[in-house]
Amino acid sequence: CGIIGVTGTGPAIPRLIESLKRLEYRGYDSAGVAALVEGRIERRRAKGKIAALEAVLRAEPLSSTVGIGHTRWATHGAPTTQNAHPHKAGRVTLVHNGIIENFADLKAELEAFGNTFESQTDTEVVAHLLDRALGGGNDPVVAFKSVLDRLTGAYALAVLIEGEDGMILGARRGSPLVVGWGEGEMYLGSDALAVGPFTQTISYLEEGDYVALDRTGARMFDVDGEPVERQKVIVSASA
Ligand code: GLU
Repeated sequence: CGIIGVTGTGPAIPRLIESLKRLEYRGYDSAGVAALVEGRIERRRAKGKIAALEAVLRAEPLSSTVGIGHTRWATHGAPTTQNAHPHKAGRVTLVHNGIIENFADLKAELEAFGNTFESQTDTEVVAHLLDRALGGGNDPVVAFKSVLDRLTGAYALAVLIEGEDGMILGARRGSPLVVGWGEGEMYLGSDALAVGPFTQTISYLEEGDYVALDRTGARMFDVDGEPVERQKVIVSASA
């Protein structure tokens, strides 16, 4: 239901939590974060309120400068910790807003290849597809586009890939997603409110756009894979 991503130099986890609290007004049944810790991606998830996720993080802290966070409003799979985002397959960890309409076909195909699933969500197929598309070392942005082209339905996505330190991939179709511009720090959010605590300079992604963030900027592409620039707008601090 809500998405935030941060790639920077300061502590990411407190920022993710602050942003998820701003997104609470949308309603949600569970929440989670993932972060890059010494080259590996680790997750913390909890059913219920952000406070429950904070309790998990107090028990098992995460320290990182790169991370993604999510509040879930379940559409496929019960509201449980196991179905909470982020979802992980191999090197790929991601969060998703929306519905992957053709997930059952994709899941059957992946299961035929031997992939096994740990959740009942529509989302998890995207992580498996991207991990496969990355193969032995394909370009992450090219692999991501090849996966997006196979999805039907609606999505906003934020993705971390093990071995790609500082990179966050994002995409939107049918669900909104914004890029936030900081100083040596970049953000992804499901709306201006999500990145509001950190920056007022944002770019609204357009339908079908996808993006690769690093700490210093964003490479944006349109639905045809052409590099594009989306206008930077200043939103008011209270947005
Ligand atoms: N369809 C996904 C799920 O049920 C995402 C729901 C959402 O937008 O929060 O897990």
